[in-house]
Amino acid sequence: MTAAAREFDLVIIGSGSGNSIPDDRFADRSIAIIDRGVYDGAYGGTCLNIGCIPTKMFVYPADVADEARDGARLGVDSSVAGTRWADIRDRVFGRIDPISAGGLRYRVEDCPNITVFQQDATFISPDGDLHRLTLADGTVVAARQVVIAAGSRPVIPPVIAESGVAFHTNDDIMRLPELPARVVIVGSGYIAAEFAHVFSGLGSAVTVVARGPRLLRAQDDTISHRFTEIVTRRWDVRLGTEVRAARNVGAGVEVDLTDGTTVAADVLLVATGRRPNGDGLGVSAAGLELDDAGRVPVDPHQRTPVRGIYALGDVSSHYLLKHVANHEARVVQANLLADWDSPVATSDHRFVPGAVFTRPQVASVGLTEAQARRRGLDVAVKVQTYGDVAYGWAMEDTEGLCKLIADRSTGLLVGAHLLGYQASALIQSVITAMSFSIPVREMARGQYWIHPALPELIENALLGLDL
Ligand SMILES: Cc1cc2nc3c(=O)[nH]c(=O)nc-3n(C[C@H](O)[C@H](O)[C@H](O)COP(=O)(O)OP(=O)(O)OC[C@H]3O[C@@H](n4cnc5c(N)ncnc54)[C@H](O)[C@@H]3O)c2cc1C
Repeated sequence: MTAAAREFDLVIIGSGSGNSIPDDRFADRSIAIIDRGVYDGAYGGTCLNIGCIPTKMFVYPADVADEARDGARLGVDSSVAGTRWADIRDRVFGRIDPISAGGLRYRVEDCPNITVFQQDATFISPDGDLHRLTLADGTVVAARQVVIAAGSRPVIPPVIAESGVAFHTNDDIMRLPELPARVVIVGSGYIAAEFAHVFSGLGSAVTVVARGPRLLRAQDDTISHRFTEIVTRRWDVRLGTEVRAARNVGAGVEVDLTDGTTVAADVLLVATGRRPNGDGLGVSAAGLELDDAGRVPVDPHQRTPVRGIYALGDVSSHYLLKHVANHEARVVQANLLADWDSPVATSDHRFVPGAVFTRPQVASVGLTEAQARRRGLDVAVKVQTYGDVAYGWAMEDTEGLCKLIADRSTGLLVGAHLLGYQASALIQSVITAMSFSIPVREMARGQYWIHPALPELIENALLGLDL
């Protein structure tokens, strides 16, 4: 027999982006936030604990070390005497762990209308219009409004999962006791690339194993080609090959590849993609079916097909980006305060940017050139290199580029792809232009561009578009 349900006005599954929903406007509602933790006791989800923030806190010291190694070509004879992994790790988590603990404490101690359950949750059959979930300890919670913000998790290829080899993912690699001398990373996307940069920057020998012919294949072809070419000089990049077998050898690992080679390393990191967590929630009991990609389906107002249930972030979106999850959480927040049948907020996924925090950085927004051409757009394309603007001369840059793609019929940008120093910051003016439909000509000549600052890269690329 099912235990009597504890009834709430709202249940939120996931303390990542879901945690930002209850604010003062929800003070008169009883709310349950359920989160089993991305690791034991963790509160605040992926981005804070095991994703965006700690990775970037490791990326920055790796950048500093790489800059020091690279000084000689500018006449600065610098080198890296060493890096202190334990100090870096402790600085990162000495900042993050208290924020996670403080976030939990705030909800538990300072929000009388909120109850936090640090447990696994699964849907069970509803009771009329009350959606019900059972928790690991048998507690049943129920509410008319439910937000599924359950995120995603790493995919582990069976050949690795079933081999018995010791491996890491982003969940635990950043807590290693010491810097490994050799790291083998399986994967070719942005998480693999960011960790390759971190470990190589801090002094490990890095091997990257990629199934495809290039790294970062989701990027525009120009960027993906250039990126692969650049990092191949720093990392041992094995393209077009897969893991055939893996085993523990002493304190390390050996990975056999389908190209017939074997890679020996101290640590194996798996970064082969992520899977939405909807499959662990028993959503079918609530009347929900996951889509073919395993996501919880939502409409533009973040409503699932089941009345009263909303979803957001990685569990329902293919973007797998924190700023998208945050945006969708604001949409859900507004719609929870309105009526299910009269939603007041709509998600805007027109121009979703993303960045890869490696060296060089990569940032993009909008269509790739191939996508634009496939859509039949009459496009103008301009590739402007960092080395052709004054600040690029100062940096003696030979790698960076900005590729802009505009639609000749409208005079508007449809895509931008940057590779190079601070690409993630430089791209923001293009995101603004695309989001507010500022025509290329107006953007280029309707404002000052600080001379000789790096945004002249964007200015020159705009002026170079043959519209
Ligand atoms: C290594 C790495 C680096 C990243 N870097 C960036 C970056 O630089 N920029 C960027 O925009 N994005 C980045 N991301 C992606 C970003 O972290 C995610 O898109 C974002 O955190 C998703 O938020 P969310 O709220 O959807 O899910 P999450 O923050 O993952 O929250 C989901 C929560 O639900 C809980 N949960 C799941 N199932 C259950 C269940 N059945 N019962 C109870 N609780 C459950 C989980 O424990 C988790 O805490 C990165 C991701 C990784 C892994």
